Amino acid sequence: MRVIVIGGGVAGAATALAMQQRGMQTTVYEAYPDPAGSVGSFVSLAVNGLRGLDGLGCLESVQAAGHDIARQRMWSAAGKPIGDVPRGRLSGDDLHSVTLMRGDLVGILREAARSAGADLRLGERFTGFTETGSGITAEFEGGHRDSADLLVGADGIWSTARGLVDPTAGRPEYAGLYSVSGVAEGVEVEPGAFNLTFGRNGAFIHLAAGGEVWWSAQIAAPAEPERGGVTNEEWQRRCAALYAGEAVQSAIIAATERIHSPVIMHVLDPVSTWRRGRAVLVGDAAHPVGAGQGASAAIEDAIALAEAVAAASTVEDALRSYEARRQPRVRKLLRLADDNRGAKQAGPVKQRLQATMMRLFIPLFYEKATAWLYDDGPKSQAGTNSRR
Ligand SMILES: Cc1cc2nc3c(=O)[nH]c(=O)nc-3n(C[C@H](O)[C@H](O)[C@H](O)COP(=O)(O)OP(=O)(O)OC[C@H]3O[C@@H](n4cnc5c(N)ncnc54)[C@H](O)[C@@H]3O)c2cc1C
Repeated sequence: MRVIVIGGGVAGAATALAMQQRGMQTTVYEAYPDPAGSVGSFVSLAVNGLRGLDGLGCLESVQAAGHDIARQRMWSAAGKPIGDVPRGRLSGDDLHSVTLMRGDLVGILREAARSAGADLRLGERFTGFTETGSGITAEFEGGHRDSADLLVGADGIWSTARGLVDPTAGRPEYAGLYSVSGVAEGVEVEPGAFNLTFGRNGAFIHLAAGGEVWWSAQIAAPAEPERGGVTNEEWQRRCAALYAGEAVQSAIIAATERIHSPVIMHVLDPVSTWRRGRAVLVGDAAHPVGAGQGASAAIEDAIALAEAVAAASTVEDALRSYEARRQPRVRKLLRLADDNRGAKQAGPVKQRLQATMMRLFIPLFYEKATAWLYDDGPKSQAGTNSRR
């Protein structure tokens, strides 16, 4: 079987790798010449995503490129502890969440896909497809075409494939939050902990990463900020002003050596179908889930799709079975992402109430309430290293 994958991000590279491992011949078309180097800040993988990577044979490389994060500590704006929970796993799980630069994750997956025989073509922007009874033809800017048995749309939140697969799908809308992230040096931070502070002007994440501190401010703002012509120094100055009353955040922002371009967060109404004929969606093209699970969900999709294609006798059966397997879980993830965004956008009164509720809720119910996130990943084919 020949497969065309549109997009060489997490979902596209993982799909190509999973397909190659099952004997399919895959070509990945990526719009940018080198997105691996230009995709910004850090990303955390929960254990469900890591188990998927184990099945793909990439777990060790990802662990080596990133930082093991055992705990997640939550703080109020006043710096008071609200909760302390295992990060991205159940407490009994020896496998720890890993945080790494997104470009490194994409680079590892692409390299593994290439080594498994996938053909990666960079600088090719997909514009549309046409289907015949026996195949599907993708079209690219500049007039190039390519045909295959299956086309996988892994082209992210601003997907072109999505509107062709489901013409009723909406467009992403501003989520009321934007994120500025950076790398600080010379600040003492406990290693192995992901710190999430519900700051007065937005959630603030920070963690020790070797000798550096990686941070991200998720700033609640009713209108999308204007980014044109704003320098990185200006973003740092704005963050310093927003977190001025908060000691830890202020110290980290002041010690910042590098700022990544701000990212505007978007939401998308659920896409009603992820398949049409010989075309199918994976990753953010199908469902930008957020909730710290977007990359893990993209990896799960990739494996579930490759397994479905390998098991079914027709493309139609394969895509139906993939969608039936993935949609219920993704719907739950989308609901969780909505709740998390609400918590990050709360005003001062709601924040205080939230902090009180969380102090009570977390010790009693957190683990039970989040267990489903970590134990529902597609089971790996080749995985042997899922516990260390
Ligand atoms: C600020 C922020 C923080 C996040 N933090 C986390 C986190 O901690 N943990 C987590 O799991 N998730 C996180 N996520 C979500 C996660 O990054 C995404 O869910 C994940 O990257 C989705 O992967 P993808 O491959 O579907 O999309 P992308 O990574 O966006 O890749 C899509 C690829 O398709 C290419 N492309 C687009 N259009 C075309 C076209 N027409 N032709 C060819 N190629 C095209 C793009 O260039 C890109 O390379 C975060 C997201 C944001 C915005």
